[in-house]
Parts: sequence; structure tokens; C-alpha cells
Amino acid sequence: MLADLSAHQIAALVHSRQVSAAEVTEAALERIRAVDGRPGTILPGEITAEDKSRVHAFITLTAERARLQAASIDQKLAAGEDPGPLAGVPFTAKDIFCVEDTPSTAASRILANFVAPYTATPVARMQAAGAVLLGKTNLDEFAYGSSSESSAFQPAPRNPWDTRRVPGGSSGGSAAAVAAGECALSLGTDTAGSIRQPAAFCSVVGVKPTYGRVSRYGLIAFGSSLDCPGPVARNITDAALALNAIAGADPHDSTAAAAPVPDYTHGLEKGVRGLRIGLSPEYFRIIFINSATGEIDTQPITPEIEKTVLEAANVYASLGAEIIEKVPMPHTRYGIPVYFVISRVEAASNLHRFDGVKYGYRTPQAVEDLSAMYRKSRGQAFGPQPKLRILMGMYVSAAQYSAQYYNRALKVRTLIRRDFEQAFDPQGAFRLDALLTPTTPTTAFPIGDIYGDSVLMQYADQFTVPANHAGTPGLSLPGGFDSQGLPIGIQLLGPDFSEARLLQIGRAFEIATQSAAWRAHRPALLDPS
Ligand code: GLN
Repeated sequence: MLADLSAHQIAALVHSRQVSAAEVTEAALERIRAVDGRPGTILPGEITAEDKSRVHAFITLTAERARLQAASIDQKLAAGEDPGPLAGVPFTAKDIFCVEDTPSTAASRILANFVAPYTATPVARMQAAGAVLLGKTNLDEFAYGSSSESSAFQPAPRNPWDTRRVPGGSSGGSAAAVAAGECALSLGTDTAGSIRQPAAFCSVVGVKPTYGRVSRYGLIAFGSSLDCPGPVARNITDAALALNAIAGADPHDSTAAAAPVPDYTHGLEKGVRGLRIGLSPEYFRIIFINSATGEIDTQPITPEIEKTVLEAANVYASLGAEIIEKVPMPHTRYGIPVYFVISRVEAASNLHRFDGVKYGYRTPQAVEDLSAMYRKSRGQAFGPQPKLRILMGMYVSAAQYSAQYYNRALKVRTLIRRDFEQAFDPQGAFRLDALLTPTTPTTAFPIGDIYGDSVLMQYADQFTVPANHAGTPGLSLPGGFDSQGLPIGIQLLGPDFSEARLLQIGRAFEIATQSAAWRAHRPALLDPS
């Protein structure tokens, strides 16, 4: 089936004109019709039994736009021109990327009527590489969550491997769409794990690049010092192709890195012989503040996840990598508390612009003055997560508390970065090329299970958030399945700008496990009996 092909296969077929971009686009739209159900909406309505068996990856489908784009790719090919390395590859973008003339909502009621006047750089670059945009995927409101349930646009996305479960979040629609063959690639954003965690929950590849490697221009901002756009893909090679398209300096984003962009597909199959891959005990337990007792509690991760990661380490050892055990990453445990503070301060600050004046929702009620208009507009259109985050962000950065919270969190963030610097220091004690960890402490949880418990929800990011604090890259790739048939993700973390190396290490695992029985698993919903 065309919809199940990966991006590099599709691009090759389209380039050689064995299939047209138009055919590929129709196949993807057909898959969407078969599995997706209705897109998310802010209109009230019951979630039906039928809804519960569908993926609901989308907020907006851009089918007509996709058909036009595909036709122009086919015309270029007919004229002997090269439409680019992603010619005809269907992709989607998390609905936090602005796309010109297209609703760009951040899954919030406050932006439900917002049609963006310009296109985010990563989306524009995918299109310039020949990829065809099929639509905008659903997410947690403003990317504030780990399950996609907090979207103001319901039904929220569901996990294609088990539609009773969440696809993860906040880029849940993106991961679900790629897993279900609704597109070959998707763009997500990762502020604490929002690309890698849903990738792990849905058995796809997700890359959080080095901070600044991919431009943030045109993103609806969450935590400006943490946000990283990146690709979701069905395999490492596709992720490398997507990163090739989107990485690089951007005159519109002064924080976009000027470092040269390598060809991420080069050297992908060099293997891991002689590389040093670390394991850290800090990534095999979760350490959290028990809100009932106020004490610091430790919990082991799901045993099957631990086993999968240790087996992956054995695979790497058998391929000639050196496994370095017991790498100390002592500040990992502070990742979530520090994130709670820093991300809320940045979120509260970034949410100031939504005031009902220039764009977005404005209260239809009569108001006596400007400040009442602000209050009503924001009060009526922000969901619970933005409200909570504004309250906390304002509190911990207030003059009388900031030394205790915000400034202290910034200091601990520096210590988290130092853990990575020491682990990867080429002259240091460990000299790691990568750290191998579980992506998440658990597999995909049931819908409704922890929704509403912000603290528990946040611990889904315990192993992903340190890289956001450090600004370093990370990727999640499928590692296998648990006994319930739920995907398990393994994570590779590396030093600044080590994306090529991480992809190479990920690809070695793919090759070594390509004939493993679990590689043949498919989401049940793709093969209805
Ligand atoms: N789970 C994180 C939060 O709720 C979001 C993670 C992300 O990367 N957007 O803040």
C-alpha cells in the first residue's frame, strides 16, 4: 500500500515517475478517510463509540491545497525539473506551526478562528523540498501536556496501537498520524519531550534537535528557551531526510544556529563499532515529590521497558560498541521541578499576546472597559492548562519569590547541562558518544487515567526533559513492544549538534533488529478483520 511506504521510498518512486505525487496524495487521503474519523472541533458534541475506534489525528485537513501542491510536483517532474528530495512525500504539521491562509490554532479556543498570514520556516522548508502538506495535527492546548487530551478540539487523538489509550503528547496527533500511515512524516515540537514521548508511545521515530538547529520562526511559542521543532518519521532514514530539509540558519530567527548543516543521510550505516554508549542509573527510575506526603519518592520504571533498553545495549555491544555503565547524571531528578518553574514563566510570558485585540478570540459580551475585555476574552477562551500555567508562571517569577524559584531553577538548569557536558567530554572520564535511555517510564496510558493530575502527567517527561534544559539533541526510536502489544521507545541523547551521530546509532539498531518478530507488528486498526 502506498500509504505504508516510507518517505525515502515514496520520494524515489516519485522521482523515477513510477508513481505520481497525485497518486501518493490520494492514497494518504484515502488512509485518512479509513482510519481517522472526524477531526477535532471546538463545537460541543458527544464522543461516540465510533469516535472511540478512530485516530482523530487532525484539527484541519488541507486536502485541496495538498492536491494543488502534488500537481505542481508532477508538473515539475514532467518538465524535467527536480522538485526536491522529498518530492511527493505526504506530511503533516502539528497545529502549533503557522501555515499561511490556514487555521493555526495551537488546539486552543483562543486561536480557533486564527488564520495565519505566513508560514513557519520548518513547514516552508518541507514544502520547498517537495513534501506535500496534508493537514494540521491535534495536540495538547498550546502543547501543554503529555497525552493530547487537553486539546480544546475534541475528539482528541487516540493511539493507533490501542485506541483506548493516549498517543502521548503534546505532538500526539503527529505521532498517531505517522504510525497509522496517514502521512509519512510530521513536524512536531519538543519543549520537554513532546516529540520523543509520543513517538515512543506510537512506535515511530522522533527527533528533538539541538536547540536552534531548526528555526522556531512561525511557531506559536510555548517555552522560548526550550522549544525545538523536529521531525516524526517511520524510520531513521526518513527522519534524516526531514532534518536535512528543515535544519539551518534562518534570518527570521536570531536563535537559529549558524552551524553548517551536514547531510544527515550520509554515514547513516557506518555502524557503531568503537563508539562509546552510556547507561545511567538515573534513567531507570523516576524520582518525584509525593504530593500526599511531601517526601521525595523513588519508583522503578516499567520492568519491560528496562529490559528492552538493556537488550538494546546488548545489541550495541554485539555490534562492537563499548557500553559504559553507571554514568552519573545526578541532576536528572531535578529536571521536572526545574521545568515546572522555567516553562511556566516562559509560557505565562508568551501568553500575554492573546488579549482579544488584534487576533484570536474576543468576548462577544458587552464590556465596560479594556481590562474587562482582556479578562473576559482570556477567561472564556483559555482552557485549564494555560490558566494554571499563567498563575504559576506569574507566581514563581514575582519579585518576592523569584530568587526562591525562578532564579534558582535557572541555576539548577546549568547543573543539568553540566551532567551532559561531563558525560560527553572527549577528554573526560566517560567520553560518551551517546547515552542510551528509555524514552518514557511507562508505555501509553489509558485515556482519562492521569488526565487532570498535572504533576503525574508531567513525569512522563522525566527522561526527555533534561535534553531540553541542556539544549542538546535526543531521539526516540522503536525498541519493541510490551506483553500487551504496546510500543516501547528507546532514547539516544548526545552532545550539541550530534544529530548525525545519533541517527547513525539509531540506524544500527534498526538494521540489527530488522528481522525481529516485533518489526512486523502493525496497528490493529490498519487491518480490520
Ligand atoms: N508535557 C509537557 C508539559 O506539559 C509538554 C512537553 C512539550 O514538550 N511540549 O509542559
